[in-house]
Amino acid sequence: MTKFIGAHTSAAGGVFNAPLNAMKIGAKAFALFTKNQRQWKAKDLDTATIDLFQKNLDESGILAKHVLPHDSYLINLGHPEIEKKEKSLHAFIDEVQRCELLGLDRLNFHPGSFLKKISEQECLNRIAENMNRTLDVTKGVTLVLENTAGQGSNLGWKFEHLAHIIERVEDKSRVGVCIDTCHMFSAGYDIRTRETYDISMAHFGNIVGFEYLKGMHLNDAKPDLGSHVDRHESIGKGKIGLDTFGFIMNDERMNDIPLILETIDDSIWDQEIALLYSLQENE
Ligand SMILES: [Zn+2]
Ligand SMILES: [Zn+2]
Repeated sequence: MTKFIGAHTSAAGGVFNAPLNAMKIGAKAFALFTKNQRQWKAKDLDTATIDLFQKNLDESGILAKHVLPHDSYLINLGHPEIEKKEKSLHAFIDEVQRCELLGLDRLNFHPGSFLKKISEQECLNRIAENMNRTLDVTKGVTLVLENTAGQGSNLGWKFEHLAHIIERVEDKSRVGVCIDTCHMFSAGYDIRTRETYDISMAHFGNIVGFEYLKGMHLNDAKPDLGSHVDRHESIGKGKIGLDTFGFIMNDERMNDIPLILETIDDSIWDQEIALLYSLQENE
């Protein structure tokens, strides 16, 4: 097997439930929040919770490298106000340490927003600086920048933004990128046809580099190309269309990384996973 598809599963009741929820939908990968994503504070992970998570992960047969934890939506590593930037940094370090404790090797996060108070470049520099500070006090976890749709003042929608940050991260072995297909399309990168897919992905390869690709979010899009609106749609039912997901399923640059559905109807995730696997030509 070369493709590892899953979904952002619920960790309600405890992180140990996420691998069980992944199993139920036939997933070979999954994403989760390791704490409530809408709160700053969380209870520390205790030994019993960690042990049960590892036991359930073993049982699911899913490898740690195919798990893509997502950080809290509250965190903004590029915040223009010093106090809020520091609050975000501390919460982010805590998120990375939670991944360490769970034996996971990557953390997916949205780069940050300049909130129209500082320049884009200043914001990108702050994000890189906070990533360096995080890497200095943690180990074993790669920080995975997600491309965004560019809604509001969210940065990371241009591949150049991601490259700018990566260039300033000192330990290149612990920085990565997650491409979200909905965000990519909404940011203005067309991927609907064989030709446009090849051009946009080659552009990513040139500006960022596939060696940094540590995961993907497979989402169709409700909004139009270049609209900068972040609204996901079920696979094949949006403006991107099913063909694109066939290109991805047969693109070896997406081998051996978590491919995660964040599509809107979680009741059909099992069908979407089966559909995606059916698009693979040579397996
Ligand atoms: Zn995403
Ligand atoms: Zn999104």
